[in-house]
Amino acid sequence: MNIVVIGGGAAGMSAASKARRMDGNAKITVLEKTGYVSYAECGMPYYLSGYFGNFRDLLHYPVSEFTEHRNINVITGIAATAINTSKKYVEAGGNTYNYDKLVLATGAAPKIPDEFKNSGISLRNMESAIAMKDKLASVKSLTIIGAGVLGTELFSLLSGKYKVKLISKHEYLLPHLDPDMGDVLNKLVKENNSDIEYNSVPESISEIDGKYRINTTSDSFITDYIIFATGIKASVELAAEAGIELTADGLIRVNDFLQTSNEDIYAGGDNVATRNLATGGYGYYPLAQVANKMGRTIGINLFGNRRVFPGALGTTVINVFGYQVGYTGINSITAKKSGIDCEGIFIKAKDKSNYLHGTDVYVKIIYEKKSGKLTGAQIIGKENAAWRLNVLAGAISGHMTLYDLLYSDLGYEPEYGPVWDPIIIAASQGLDKADDQV
Ligand SMILES: Cc1cc2nc3c(=O)[nH]c(=O)nc-3n(C[C@H](O)[C@H](O)[C@H](O)COP(=O)(O)OP(=O)(O)OC[C@H]3O[C@@H](n4cnc5c(N)ncnc54)[C@H](O)[C@@H]3O)c2cc1C
Repeated sequence: MNIVVIGGGAAGMSAASKARRMDGNAKITVLEKTGYVSYAECGMPYYLSGYFGNFRDLLHYPVSEFTEHRNINVITGIAATAINTSKKYVEAGGNTYNYDKLVLATGAAPKIPDEFKNSGISLRNMESAIAMKDKLASVKSLTIIGAGVLGTELFSLLSGKYKVKLISKHEYLLPHLDPDMGDVLNKLVKENNSDIEYNSVPESISEIDGKYRINTTSDSFITDYIIFATGIKASVELAAEAGIELTADGLIRVNDFLQTSNEDIYAGGDNVATRNLATGGYGYYPLAQVANKMGRTIGINLFGNRRVFPGALGTTVINVFGYQVGYTGINSITAKKSGIDCEGIFIKAKDKSNYLHGTDVYVKIIYEKKSGKLTGAQIIGKENAAWRLNVLAGAISGHMTLYDLLYSDLGYEPEYGPVWDPIIIAASQGLDKADDQV
């Protein structure tokens, strides 16, 4: 079997490594356009903020691990430029690479508004992280445009080290949160004297003596450096040119085995649409665990479709000034848009037993009004909030109801949570509310 993988990130390297474990004799080639493969993209904001000084700490394995020990031919620094699906080869760097099975693991690229493309940088890969780190050594003030996951995380990590301003298009950070949770987050962030412009977007940016003047819808100011965190766009150009079917949202369409409309081509990671485990519909979940698991699933299915990739919930957790903030499944707004009759329960509780003086944790659970089936959850808290969210994500994946969650037999220890854990209180209150409505 001759396997070619385009893209040496999370999905691509997982697919290649699993394929090698499946078949010691397969010929496996990975084509990666940057100089790096197999590294922790999610750790890059921590590198920028100075948690560690050497970007090499982010590398999971050097290229030699793959070429010398795993017999995977990893070629860096060349981009695949075309796929010939009838003759089954890929063009890259003036060469052709024949395949029996091809994996598209091309990830996504930053989406910077065209008019601002030359005014700033976006953090997407190791090369951009190194460039950013170099530049940060000589700046005092910086502006982050976009208050989604990446913008908010960078804002939190870089504040204190630099004078950082955040421009948020929405009225609260992390717009996937419901408004009540967004309000909580805004208040907590305010306690850090953060410089945030809400409901604001840049209208023009001009360069003056190596600095930038930004005119936003609410202000005009000068900044040393601009980071764009204005979203990503799936890298699907190669697939589209090769005639592979895309969804209406411009993502690669794959079946349950992550096979594209061409049976010899698989795709996974930040470039595909996948099923939402809560609703059964399709969505976009560009996240590390999803990409790694998709890659691994592809590595199995290249040798015959036998492993279904079930879908995802988009479970996201970030650190905002020491608060663990996260969400999973659908929010109330998406539920309404999708025509799902949902109800939400929002509670504030302590994250430890009273005598241990816990801190506040805020939990929101979204569930189907009629059946009590869990469809989404959101959390903000200092300790163990991320793991509480993960329990909720497990419950949603398992199609559990408020009743199932309430009676889940969770462990209790006073230091780790009160005997009525916040997520159990939320389930209980939700169930009471549902009973009252019967
Ligand atoms: C700064 C940052 C922080 C993040 N933090 C988190 C987090 O905390 N938690 C979380 O769950 N997720 C996080 N993510 C998202 C996560 O890293 C991605 O979802 C995951 O890496 C996607 O894997 P992938 O293989 O699809 O894409 P990537 O890992 O991006 O790999 C795609 C690769 O394909 C290469 N490529 C593209 N086109 C071509 C071509 N034509 N020829 C050759 N090579 C090509 C690219 O250079 C790239 O190396 C973060 C992402 C970033 C950028």
